[in-house]
Amino acid sequence: GNFTFTMIKPGAVNNEYIGPILAKITDAGFRIAAMKMIKLRTAQAEVFYGIHKERPFFRSLVEFMTSGPIVVAVLEKENAVQSYRELIGSTNPEEAKSGTIRKLFAESVSKNAVHGSDSVENAANEALFFFSRSEIF
Ligand code: ATP
Repeated sequence: GNFTFTMIKPGAVNNEYIGPILAKITDAGFRIAAMKMIKLRTAQAEVFYGIHKERPFFRSLVEFMTSGPIVVAVLEKENAVQSYRELIGSTNPEEAKSGTIRKLFAESVSKNAVHGSDSVENAANEALFFFSRSEIF
């Protein structure tokens, strides 16, 4: 459990929050093990968020996540998954604690600045969705 996976979502990229969000991440003691800026294709977003395909917000989630570039990264720290969930705060920024990334940079529950893996197993699957093993140092 020493790695997690994150995405900086289109709203945050568009608002020029990449730098401030990465500063929060490194200030919290995470090491950036791999990172790139990409644009998700619709089919990729549908697979990545496949667990939500029956939810009412699925179509708008896929549209939002493909609306502009995102930053994907693998982060290393002791207890990374849980530690990063604490750093990003609640899914709904109105419920996120002060100082968390979502409290500082999210616009709404749908435009909530970042993604963070919710389990060690998902972190590995999500990291390998975007990176080959040789890209993760
Ligand atoms: P993420 O997986 O992005 O880190 P999360 O684990 O906090 O978020 P999930 O419940 O897995 O939240 O939802 C995935 C994403 O779907 C959320 O980050 C958010 O962008 C979107 N989402 C979740 N609930 C809603 C909702 N009620 N309305 C609109 N969008 C939502």
